Amino acid sequence: MFLCIDLDAFFVSVEQALNPSLTGKPVIVGGLPQERGVVASASYEARKFGIHSGMPTSLAYRLCPQAIFLKGKFQYYQLYSRQFHQIISSYSPDIDMVSIDEAYINARGTQRLFGTPLELACTLRSNIKNILKIPSSVGIARTKVFSKIACEQSKPNGTLAVPVKDETKFLSPLNVGVLPGIGPKHVEILHNLNINTVEELIKTPDWIVETALGNYYKILKFFIHGGDYQSVDTMKSISRETTLHEDTINRELIYALLYYLTERACNTLRKKKRIAKTLTVKIRFSDFKTISRRTKIPAGNAQQIIFKLGTRILEEMLKEKKRVRLIGIALSGLEKDGLQPSMFRLKEERLNRLNSALDRVRNKFGFNSLSAANSIILKRSFEDTKNGYTLHTPSLSQ
Ligand SMILES: [Mg+2]
Repeated sequence: MFLCIDLDAFFVSVEQALNPSLTGKPVIVGGLPQERGVVASASYEARKFGIHSGMPTSLAYRLCPQAIFLKGKFQYYQLYSRQFHQIISSYSPDIDMVSIDEAYINARGTQRLFGTPLELACTLRSNIKNILKIPSSVGIARTKVFSKIACEQSKPNGTLAVPVKDETKFLSPLNVGVLPGIGPKHVEILHNLNINTVEELIKTPDWIVETALGNYYKILKFFIHGGDYQSVDTMKSISRETTLHEDTINRELIYALLYYLTERACNTLRKKKRIAKTLTVKIRFSDFKTISRRTKIPAGNAQQIIFKLGTRILEEMLKEKKRVRLIGIALSGLEKDGLQPSMFRLKEERLNRLNSALDRVRNKFGFNSLSAANSIILKRSFEDTKNGYTLHTPSLSQ
């Protein structure tokens, strides 16, 4: 069995642990209402007003002007995340930390020491509550996928176990939106076909759903029937973007940001041992017009080459000569990095070796222990922490 453990409203919960007078109040982390950030985390009291993460803070302010808006202390979130990891690591050697506040724990072999998975969940949650003063939720099931769904259903501050024999009973009444990897567009398509629950989805003939959802249906079906993450790769792209503090036409700053975002995305790409086939650059101008351009990435995937491609398409995009409000990049068409080194040309191989050396230093000493000359200008505009610049869209400071 797997336990999916997730800290509730993580950023907000850390703020409340640091300052207990915030407890029980509508609290929003992500920026001040007069700024242009988005909500990174909202307390459950704030969610009652319809506020959710990803929403512009200005809209959140309109929905709930009495809420407490905080910029967020990201150094602390990382500190808490590390402690969270330490706590759960003492209960199982088989842990998969999937984000800053969420992990899967394989409960196989923990029974003799820590009791049933349900007892283990109880111990973990109370330990986290005692040490970190943060509420968490746990889902328990045969697959990671089901444990994740159960965890979401148990929130906030709950535990939910799905015995193998009850899997269908558990899934049937749930909205299709709970399924992994499903997007709002898929949900809308299914909704238009009068398919709202998982049960309705299962009862609809395959060919209808396949026509509606295309290839994604195969993955969905695999998950519904008890398939699990390890065997299917749901990661479709790696993207990084940020809103600027103020709209700018400063080329130097825009290119420095492009460089920094490319470095961050490529760092993740290498960590996940993937190569990308397509690069997309996106910018939003001060009048909110958003454009994006894409280009093919040649084999090799060295970040220096990806950056060069990015500057070339960015150059085209900046011909509009308007102030830039947001910039982002996405690497897509991801595949397992299975190429033999001999297939790289010499220059790319050299770059790849350089990049993995950089990764090693950064993993040890923090991302900003090395700053490329290309992005050093960012020091003037963004807070420089050990783990990188604190970008304006905090949930994306990674
Ligand atoms: Mg969470």
